[in-house]
Amino acid sequence: MLFKSLEILCLRKQKDFKEEASMAVVNTILDRLCGLEGSNFTVTDVKVFETQVTWRIEHKDDPKYICPRCEAVHNTAFEKKWIKLQDTPQGFKRHIWYVKRARVLCSCSLNPIVEKMDFRSKHHQMTKRFNDYIEMTLCSKMFTVADVARLFKLSYSVVYKIDHEVLLRLIQEHEIPDPIHLSVDETSFRKRRHYVTVVTDAGRGQVIWVSEGNRKESLDQFFRILGPERCAKVETVARDLHAPYASSCAEYVPHALQVADPFHVVQRLNDTIDECRKELSVGSALRVGKRRLIHRMNWLLRFKSENLRKDQFKSLEHLKRVNEDLYEAYLLKEHFYEFFEFKPSEINLAENFLVHWVVEAYKVQLASLRKFAEYITRNTDQLLNIIRTQRSSAISEGINSKISVIKKMAYGYKNIQYFMLKILQRCGALGRNWQPEPI
Ligand SMILES: [Zn+2]
Repeated sequence: MLFKSLEILCLRKQKDFKEEASMAVVNTILDRLCGLEGSNFTVTDVKVFETQVTWRIEHKDDPKYICPRCEAVHNTAFEKKWIKLQDTPQGFKRHIWYVKRARVLCSCSLNPIVEKMDFRSKHHQMTKRFNDYIEMTLCSKMFTVADVARLFKLSYSVVYKIDHEVLLRLIQEHEIPDPIHLSVDETSFRKRRHYVTVVTDAGRGQVIWVSEGNRKESLDQFFRILGPERCAKVETVARDLHAPYASSCAEYVPHALQVADPFHVVQRLNDTIDECRKELSVGSALRVGKRRLIHRMNWLLRFKSENLRKDQFKSLEHLKRVNEDLYEAYLLKEHFYEFFEFKPSEINLAENFLVHWVVEAYKVQLASLRKFAEYITRNTDQLLNIIRTQRSSAISEGINSKISVIKKMAYGYKNIQYFMLKILQRCGALGRNWQPEPI
């Protein structure tokens, strides 16, 4: 419908159209379609082709050229040149603008300078409204950079640059909300060669800060930005029991309750069982056949017993006969989940549970399990705080899985700053209230 009307307008414009009043109406409609009303430019020609629509845009009669730096108005141009801009596609047609732009000699610059054009994107060969449209699509969080590039038939690098630019702009306006319950975690970047620290507001379930590295300074940076007043409001910090974070919390939020993140405790427990398996399958004095059987039990030992199939149960029974220690370790792992079910009123029972569990773990002749028992003994207070605060692992699990999706979607990020911004956007509130950049 739009293209039909456009074609009629073009025909009218091309023919000797004598009625001046109607001609003015046609011009106004065309200018309005391009958002040129009130500007120095006007549409002088439109051509509709099978796959694209081309617009010719020139200065109005008696033009004024505005310097983009000092806003000085000039009556003469130094030179004029046709440039090509891509506009928002409509239907299946691309829209290409051919614009005759001028350069002016202004006292604010030694060289001729390109005049101010509000409709042109600052950094790319496209119109500002198309640039805004791409930004909006990217901020909708529904499309990846590759998706948007394919959708608008643009190169990946152009869309990547737009995405990076909009995130850098949005981060300037980003304000950290007042958090009461924090969750701190580290995530790897570039195949575990680098790390970033991710701070989540557990109350809102949003990532509110990301900084480079996983050292004390990385978290210090966050607390310094938060300021002493807002730090005083923090009530709990759930974290991976990573020593540098502990010293940062002790310095900036000593009053806050330090809670072990249940997600990391469970993750560590699963890793421990896996290490026990490796201990027996690689470096033990067991027979080759037994070692091979244990080696194959990787996933079986990670599953919860309630999720096991009948045949897997049989394998577990078989394991009991092959190696009782590993079987015991698996049962202890299953037993440990019961710890998270205690209520705050049962804190003494929870403490007894941990003591009992540690004693049982020491009875098993596996070094990795003893190491985990030591970890429990060292961090008993933080673990009991899980029961006191009833903190669940749901938020950390959600954020962690979202971050792994971000990594997969981008097939590994090369730019750490962009990766950090992307975490803030996808798992936080960055870009939620996207507005076009003011002209
Ligand atoms: Zn100037």
